[in-house]
Amino acid sequence: MASTPPPHDDALHRRGLLFILSSPSGAGKTTISRRLLAHDGHIQMSVSVTTRPMRPGEVDGKDYYFTDQPDFDTKVRDGQFLEWAHVFGHSYGTPKAQIKAGLKTGQDFLFDIDWQGTQQLYQKAETDVVRVFLLPPSLDELRRRLTARATDSAEVIASRMARAQAEISHWDGYDYVVVNDDIDVCFAKVVQILAAERLRRARQTGLIGFVRELMKPEI
Ligand code: 5GP
Repeated sequence: MASTPPPHDDALHRRGLLFILSSPSGAGKTTISRRLLAHDGHIQMSVSVTTRPMRPGEVDGKDYYFTDQPDFDTKVRDGQFLEWAHVFGHSYGTPKAQIKAGLKTGQDFLFDIDWQGTQQLYQKAETDVVRVFLLPPSLDELRRRLTARATDSAEVIASRMARAQAEISHWDGYDYVVVNDDIDVCFAKVVQILAAERLRRARQTGLIGFVRELMKPEI
């Protein structure tokens, strides 16, 4: 996939948006996210704060901002998060300041969060949020994608399937739903959604001045 950013929509000033991609695991969210970041220079991943330990290969400030629980709790108290949650015994939060500043300058942010994070973000920043949900093409295909190794036990696969189906049950909390049958087609659809959402009138904050110019009476 080419890494050159496409020509930007137009020369008008535009407010950025919060682009949420959710899916059950096995529906291709990670691949689509990576492609989008490589393809488009105007969207960046939102980097969350977390209390979970750093994994090998992770970089502080790139994958997450790693911190401890007391610091996280202080940030919650100070209202520094747009949303936050406890996931698998650790705390995760989206820092507010970087998002607020970025949106003003036309920066878009990509979020890889589940339906609960999506709901919270929507409640806090409804007009800036675009919610996209990816679905697997069939139950058989989902099972195939969740069977990582031939040695996976029936119990392990069943529990992954149950988790995926619980996530799927929240499909109706999204603005767009894309069935990922073919990764290239799915990616093209996600790119189209982003392009159209950038052109929403309310996001084109430079329009008023521009249109005023167009409507100046000719002498
Ligand atoms: P991991 O620790 O494997 O990177 O992420 C575990 C889970 O935490 C994932 O489901 C991920 O979507 C979620 N997560 C990561 N950052 C945030 C965040 O800022 N807010 C919320 N609500 N969930 C997050």
